[in-house]
Amino acid sequence: MMKIDIMTLFPEMCEAVLGESIIGRARKSEKVQINCVNIRDFSGNKHNKVDDTTYGGGMGMVMSANPIYNCFNSLYDKDKEEKPHLIYMSPRGETFTQKKAIELANYDHIVILCGHYEGVDQRVIDEIVDEEISIGDFVLTGGEIPAMAVTDAVCRMLPGVLADEVCFTEESHFEGLLEFPQYTKPEEWMGRKVPDVLLSGHHENIAKWRRLKAIEETYNRRPDMLKDAKLTEKEKKYLLELSQEVK
Ligand code: SAM
Repeated sequence: MMKIDIMTLFPEMCEAVLGESIIGRARKSEKVQINCVNIRDFSGNKHNKVDDTTYGGGMGMVMSANPIYNCFNSLYDKDKEEKPHLIYMSPRGETFTQKKAIELANYDHIVILCGHYEGVDQRVIDEIVDEEISIGDFVLTGGEIPAMAVTDAVCRMLPGVLADEVCFTEESHFEGLLEFPQYTKPEEWMGRKVPDVLLSGHHENIAKWRRLKAIEETYNRRPDMLKDAKLTEKEKKYLLELSQEVK
C-alpha cells in the first residue's frame, strides 16, 4: 500500500479534506495510507516555537530547519527503508501536471512538506528535499491546499481507488488531450439535445466521436497541448481541417 505523509503546522486542515469522499473511503479500505503529521510536535522547545525572524531583515517569519528535519526523520526507519521521496510545496517549484501525478503514484512512500509564513529555511530544503512543486503562478498562505491537490491527484490513480482505470485514463490531460463533452439524463434539456451518436448504442462510433471531440476541445481551448499529443494520421488530418475551418 502506498504511504503519503504530510508534514504541516495544520494537520486538522488536511484531515478535514482527506477524510471525506473518495480519498476518505480509500484510506478506510486501506488502498492508501495517509498521515498528517504536526511539525510543531518536533519543535524541541517548551514553547513549541517552529519559526523565527529572517536573517538580513524583512517582513514575516521563516520556518526553522530543525523541527522539519526531525519531523522528517521520524517518518521512516533508516535501517529498514530508503529515504522517502520528499516534496516541498513551493511557488518556486516546477508546475504540477498530470504527468507528475502519474510519476509520483509509482513511489511506495512520499512525504509532502507544507510551508507557511514566508517559507522554509533554505538549508533544510538543500539537505533533505528531493523536488519542489508549485500548483500555479500565484501565492497562497500555506502549502496545505497545494499538498491536498497533489495528494488527491496521486491517490485517485492508485489501484482500487476509482471504480475502474478508465475513470482516469479517459479524462483530460491523461493522454495529452482534454476530455470530450459529457451528458446525462434527460435526453433534452432547455431545448438542448444530447448528440445522437451517444444514444445510438454503437460503441465504436461513440469511441470515434469522443476522440474527435477531445481533439476539437483541445484545439479550441489548449492548442499548446497538441504538440505532445499522440495522434493517428487520420486524426492529424482532422486537426488540419479544424485549423482550416477557423481561417
Ligand atoms: N515567500 C514565498 C515566496 O515568495 O516564494 C512564499 C511563501 S507562501 C506565503 C507560504 C507557503 O505556501 C510556501 O512555503 C509554500 O509551501 C506554500 N505555497 C504558496 N503558494 C504556493 C503555490 N503556488 N504552490 C505550492 N505551494 C505554495
